Amino acid sequence: MDQRSAEPDPGTGSCPVTLYGEFTAIGPRKVRCAVNLTEKELIVQRLPSAPAGRSKTVLSLEDCVGCRAHREDDGGEPAAYLSAYFYPLRRRWRSSGGSRRQRVEHRFRLTALQDPGANLEEAEKWARSIRERSGRQRCLRDGLMVWELSHPCRMMLLVNPQSGKGQALTLYNNHIQPMLNEAGVPHTLVITERQNHARELVREADLSQWNAVVIMSGDGLLYEVINGLLERADWEEAIQTPLGFLPGGSGNALAASIHHYTGASQVFSEELLISCGFLLCKGLLSRMDLVSVQLSSGPRLFSFLSLAWGFVADVDIESEKYRHVGAARFTVGTLVRLASLRIYKGKLAYLPASKDCSTEGGLRNNMTKQCNNQAPSPASLLRRQSRDSPCQNTLHNSCHSNNSLKVRRAESVPPRSANKGHPGPPASRLLPLDQPLPSDWVVVQEEDFVLMLAMYQSHLAEDLMAAPNATLDDGVIHLTYVTAGISRSALLRLFLAMEKGAHLTSNCQHLVHTEVQALRLEPNSPKGIITVDGEVVEYGPMQAEVHRGLARLITG
Ligand code: ADP
Ligand code: MG
Repeated sequence: MDQRSAEPDPGTGSCPVTLYGEFTAIGPRKVRCAVNLTEKELIVQRLPSAPAGRSKTVLSLEDCVGCRAHREDDGGEPAAYLSAYFYPLRRRWRSSGGSRRQRVEHRFRLTALQDPGANLEEAEKWARSIRERSGRQRCLRDGLMVWELSHPCRMMLLVNPQSGKGQALTLYNNHIQPMLNEAGVPHTLVITERQNHARELVREADLSQWNAVVIMSGDGLLYEVINGLLERADWEEAIQTPLGFLPGGSGNALAASIHHYTGASQVFSEELLISCGFLLCKGLLSRMDLVSVQLSSGPRLFSFLSLAWGFVADVDIESEKYRHVGAARFTVGTLVRLASLRIYKGKLAYLPASKDCSTEGGLRNNMTKQCNNQAPSPASLLRRQSRDSPCQNTLHNSCHSNNSLKVRRAESVPPRSANKGHPGPPASRLLPLDQPLPSDWVVVQEEDFVLMLAMYQSHLAEDLMAAPNATLDDGVIHLTYVTAGISRSALLRLFLAMEKGAHLTSNCQHLVHTEVQALRLEPNSPKGIITVDGEVVEYGPMQAEVHRGLARLITG
């Protein structure tokens, strides 16, 4: 074996070769090859040297999740092996186009030395170097350090065996367990036994034992975890626990949103799971907005995804009975509900998104920061937010111009904050539900609705991009409502357009989209469904406000 270290590469210029070796690549055929490891790539070239560019494979270390060295019983040969695990994006040849991540293992046999221990040592040196470099790729983005999970990471992985079509455990065994093992991410598997099991578990857990809590289920299980963390006396610290999401349910909206934010083309079901598994192995952290929700009784709830009333909430809950078809249950439910389209009566008001809040975003966005600088804690920002509220510089950002004619400012009242003395961040924009709205709120004049949908992430389901402009921590609730009078066919067109997020530009006269910081809904009909992150909550008056970047999420 020819072995050189830290030598400049005459061919690639800016990317010097740091390790060079000649190994046997183990694939369908065994071929001798020259292997170069640079800061960014693993370059494998067949020997004897083929003309430049031929028989050369360049593997980006950004796609690498792990690498290990090992020995095999090799008939008395002193060989050692090196296995590197990559998940490159591969173009799909189907008519839908796009690309998805696919696992590729690259194995090499090292036999240069007579001593098996020396070969293994050499393979271990390579494995370490590949792991370090692929780790550096994830830390350094555009010259800035990005926050990542600590190493080694102790991860609690909660799996709901009942979610989706009841296949979450099988999906875990087939895809996630091998992937995490290859990436060297130790984790403790916890299988939930009932509803609220995960919520109770994280409420009582000694969180100092865990570097991350990851759920494999639908959005409902993450809703439990977030609420469990925010019910703790030490909620300020608890909600800093990095959270991860692996789609195993029928409603995998956050997984679809995280995938969408990476800029990759749309994927579904197991391809989405592989993408999210890959991002989990990479372990980059971002901030995520949460929304606190006050109902007329009971403690506050915390939401990471959506609030729905009317058509969308009905479809979500009524489609439970089609759970066996997986994510397609929402399509079936939409068609059924369209056939018996209803009108929902109520009052809707909101506090428009403010300029103040968008400048604060400069501080919080992306968790991108110079190495080791401490970003302001969510608690200190929240304290500042409450001092500054209510925001007076309103930016009325409505898609539908008629909307501005049909809203009026609320009456002025002295501010008195709601929900004091409970865990979770203080309410800074909300008055108690029984009090009139502050003067800077906008009251929607219509009282007959088909749906109200408040989103803080891009996707409502794997194939529904309800808020195409939303980002993880924009500090904004993306409020959409559809007023009565829309035809069935127009509503169906809106949902079809939503697959690509095109509904907002569809010029539908009944659809209004606006960006807000807080909202209040007072339904008039005696019975109905309101959902928070797809879970049914008490029906009646409710209000909500956004808490920018309150949680931390493992993303790409
Ligand atoms: P899906 O997207 O398939 O609905 P969710 O993660 O939203 O999957 O889970 C659906 C519901 O199941 C949630 O309300 C969750 O609290 C509940 N749940 C969690 N674990 C279990 C379990 N072991 N048995 C039954 N229900 C559970
Ligand atoms: Mg958002």
